[in-house]
Amino acid sequence: MYSENKFFIEDVPCENKLIALRCDLNVPLQNGCVQDETRIKESLQTIRYLQEQKARTFIISHLGRPKGKIQDELRLRPVAERLSEILGTQVMYASDCVGEDAKAKIASLQKGDIALLENVRFHREEIQNDPSFSKKLSHGADYFVNDAFGTAHREHCSNCGITRFVPLSLMGYLIRKETLALEKISQNPRHPFAVICGGVKISDKIDLIESLTRSADQILIGGAMAFTFLRAKNIQTGNSLVEEDKVEIAKNLLAKAKEKILLPLDLMVSSFLDLHSSSSSPKISIPLQLISLDIQAVPDGYYAVDIGPKTIAKYQAILSKAKTIFWNGPMGIFEIAEASQGTFATASMIAKLMDKNDIYSVIGGGDSAAAITQSGFKDKVSHVSTGGGASLEFLNQADLPALSLLSSKEASYQTTGRL
Ligand code: ADP
Ligand code: MG
Repeated sequence: MYSENKFFIEDVPCENKLIALRCDLNVPLQNGCVQDETRIKESLQTIRYLQEQKARTFIISHLGRPKGKIQDELRLRPVAERLSEILGTQVMYASDCVGEDAKAKIASLQKGDIALLENVRFHREEIQNDPSFSKKLSHGADYFVNDAFGTAHREHCSNCGITRFVPLSLMGYLIRKETLALEKISQNPRHPFAVICGGVKISDKIDLIESLTRSADQILIGGAMAFTFLRAKNIQTGNSLVEEDKVEIAKNLLAKAKEKILLPLDLMVSSFLDLHSSSSSPKISIPLQLISLDIQAVPDGYYAVDIGPKTIAKYQAILSKAKTIFWNGPMGIFEIAEASQGTFATASMIAKLMDKNDIYSVIGGGDSAAAITQSGFKDKVSHVSTGGGASLEFLNQADLPALSLLSSKEASYQTTGRL
């Protein structure tokens, strides 16, 4: 497998080595407090391992999108403080990721010490993958360890450029867990393999759907994604979200894999939809109406916001026979309770099947991960990916820019004759 050919932190001795560790500590902050520490917790296994191995570790992370400028509310100091509390040891904090303070803090690291460098995206060179900034960021480290799966599809200094300036680049525990889990889906999944695909942007996902038509037995479509497919079948979708420029591609896909791609049989519709209302959540008119597509199309002036009960039952029947399930994209506007039934019914369906059958199930995508967490069934499924775009791109291409640059065991063996 691809990930087994990459160096992993357990493959090399780390004692007293200077380690540049890229984590995804992009946590939500409010008034200087960490609101949700999931991402910190997910990074702990690698951080604790390096501490135990007595490495000297400095952590590089981004936070939000400061667009190359210092923004005080996007500083990582509160994260360093929270990380110190969780680890029960002092985590040093450097007020910049390069420059004198960072150099001094890194030089002072003793065996087992951890330092967190300030938000790498305060420098615009980071997202430009600028070589001289990559070199500065490497701080002469012995090893680079990448554990930030969520950004592995981006080519930035802190995950790609930096690998050129360190002797060895390794996978951390989280990246390894992610790639192993996704490889179980992308390489020889157990059949029947059912994919549930929803969410909003068909343009982001059409390539993935196309590649999954080769390995999956069924692709169950929901969410706003469904309406472009319905339009491709000349079914009227009223005012529902349709990506007009993707109708032709959807038509071709249906022609190629008609028997595999399943579309909703019924929909919940609203006479009003405002996705960008002044408050942060979308608005719809309630009660919703149910439309059976074999009797009636979505009338003009109506917006489909969720899948209906017949669709849920049909998808459930298919999922109950599956051995492998991959789910990306909510089935409706799950942020609104009245339009969340399709999404939460899917989550509970998968959880129940996991109790009964021997199934491998993976959830990918930022909003899908939020939905399964909200449903309370997160712990039931085999794997919830921490990377939205990264997980989809990895499934589609079986590789990611930041992963491909990690040191490969075969290449190293061929050039040096030893591992
Ligand atoms: P993920 O992050 O899991 O890949 P997406 O970002 O593609 O998922 O889509 C999630 C969004 O899709 C949610 O905000 C949800 O409200 C929206 N959505 C789902 N169904 C509909 C619909 N029928 N109309 C409009 N938006 C929808
Ligand atoms: Mg999303």
